[in-house]
Amino acid sequence: MHTVIIERAASYDRPLVKDALIRLLEPLGGIETFVRPGERVLLKVNLLTGKAPEKAVTTHPEVVRGVIELVQAAGGIPLVGDSPGVGGLKSVAGKTGILAVVEATGARLVEFTNPQEVAGSGMFKRLALAEAYLSADKVINLPKLKTHEMMTMTCAVKNLFGTVVGTAKAGWHLKAGADREMFARMLLEIYLLRPPELTIVDAITAMEGDGPSSGDPRQVGLLLAGTNPVAVDVIAAEIAGIPKKLLYVERVAQTLGLDGADRATISTRGLPIEEARVASFRLPHISDVQFGLPPFLKNRLRHYLTSRPCAIPGKCRLCGICADACPPHAISIKDGRLVFDYHACIRCFCCRELCPDGALDVQEGKLLTFIKKFL
Ligand code: SF4
Ligand code: SF4
Repeated sequence: MHTVIIERAASYDRPLVKDALIRLLEPLGGIETFVRPGERVLLKVNLLTGKAPEKAVTTHPEVVRGVIELVQAAGGIPLVGDSPGVGGLKSVAGKTGILAVVEATGARLVEFTNPQEVAGSGMFKRLALAEAYLSADKVINLPKLKTHEMMTMTCAVKNLFGTVVGTAKAGWHLKAGADREMFARMLLEIYLLRPPELTIVDAITAMEGDGPSSGDPRQVGLLLAGTNPVAVDVIAAEIAGIPKKLLYVERVAQTLGLDGADRATISTRGLPIEEARVASFRLPHISDVQFGLPPFLKNRLRHYLTSRPCAIPGKCRLCGICADACPPHAISIKDGRLVFDYHACIRCFCCRELCPDGALDVQEGKLLTFIKKFL
């Protein structure tokens, strides 16, 4: 059986978060179960982009502070790291409030710069992850609960994609292509290369709607913890009321028979899950209804059955960030406007995720609009 703990934390008030973290870890034996004196403990935070904490894009600094202090109290040496989608680590950490916490607590910010190849045993044979992640004695995964336009939800497993260094992420997006189940499989294989010892989810203010960066903050008032990230995701999705058919990571984990994927093997402690459930948590727009179709039909009907990104007139300042980040280079700037090659586009929505100006919208395929009425 896997255990996932659920605790209430009504706000990011510093003492309140610290108390909630202590209660959260009690059923697992406290932080001492995971951290020994002198160990280098990497906190894998979500530092997607340099947005203020109240935007709910990144792990909140008060959760990071609370975990740093617990690690220090257990005699561990806390390191805080991620590989942001846009911008340098220090700059992004500064804008998100995490740098100030790192400096105030005496923790250390670590760059994810030196990719080390790790032999996988699954479909993706040669994945390279950040050396700082692989060399830590212990890893505490600190995701934010958010919606995700491509994968519906990002939480414990998806947060570990940040261990792929910088622009190599685009390469892995491209390898998985437009197939979300393939991308889910890759995320699971990354997690299995070096599973974190502990996952603590910041769901005090989560993100709903068109996440992971353009959605809306949603007060949920919870922290979750567990040792198996797949099980933590299963419970997070249940709390948010996300249907399983839209959860690619969870479905693929179950198909592969991974530990933690089967709800019957997970028990919850702390706040009863019935009391934790969030009413009408807004999901991202449905951007793909190809599930279950054979590959040849998926390719033929993709234009009609998926959404695609498009520029909002007058909002795009042609900075080129989306074009640089686009895995298949499907975006170019021509004659003073943004041009998309929709045949090349794999519908990963990295462009929307990383646009600092919220200048990209989605356009639905005609069949998708029709089918959505019956979903
Ligand atoms: S859509 Fe956003 S990221 Fe892309 S060029 Fe325009 S402003 Fe820059
Ligand atoms: S255009 Fe946007 S959605 Fe399409 S592949 Fe590029 S980044 Fe992904």
